[in-house]
Amino acid sequence: MNQQLLVLIKPDGLKKSLTGNILTRLSETKLEIVAAKMVRVSRELAVEHYKHMKDKPFFEDLVKYIQGELHDRRKVMAMVYWGNDAITKVRQLAGATNPEEADPTTIRGSYGRITTKGLYENVLHTSSNELEAEREIKLWFQPEDIIVDLYPTEVIEVKMEKKCVWT
Ligand code: ADP
Repeated sequence: MNQQLLVLIKPDGLKKSLTGNILTRLSETKLEIVAAKMVRVSRELAVEHYKHMKDKPFFEDLVKYIQGELHDRRKVMAMVYWGNDAITKVRQLAGATNPEEADPTTIRGSYGRITTKGLYENVLHTSSNELEAEREIKLWFQPEDIIVDLYPTEVIEVKMEKKCVWT
């Protein structure tokens, strides 16, 4: 069954120059990348993305982490992967959330670490199920950013919108 999910290369992954390695590992899945962009993560976006973690003691560090404040890299690479059984395939390659427990051959097992404050720095985010994938893809991307039709859309008229264009 075709599925889609959000994959983020987190600021530690970018700082460690792992983009190429991660994309190469994920290409083993033969899934398609149907959207990709670099994102400067606002606090609002970070809090919304991790809203299911808001009661965790490390929540504030998690927000700072995804915003790049812990790595002096204020960006993440956001992608949508699409194809047969995509969520299981990507999560298997990514490995367990805790990088110390992740199989050493997985991406997190190879490149993740636990900080001295106890935060899991695990180089990438991958949606955990179809519902979360839909929520996250709709949070990070607009319909026109994605080259296939994943979810129903509607056309609305937007008035008085300000837009930045090339001069
Ligand atoms: P995943 O990213 O594998 O879907 P979660 O959504 O549960 O995992 O957690 C979000 C992020 O919060 C993790 O990727 C990791 O960076 C961090 N995290 C999760 N659990 C812990 C924990 N027990 N201690 C420290 N950091 C954690």
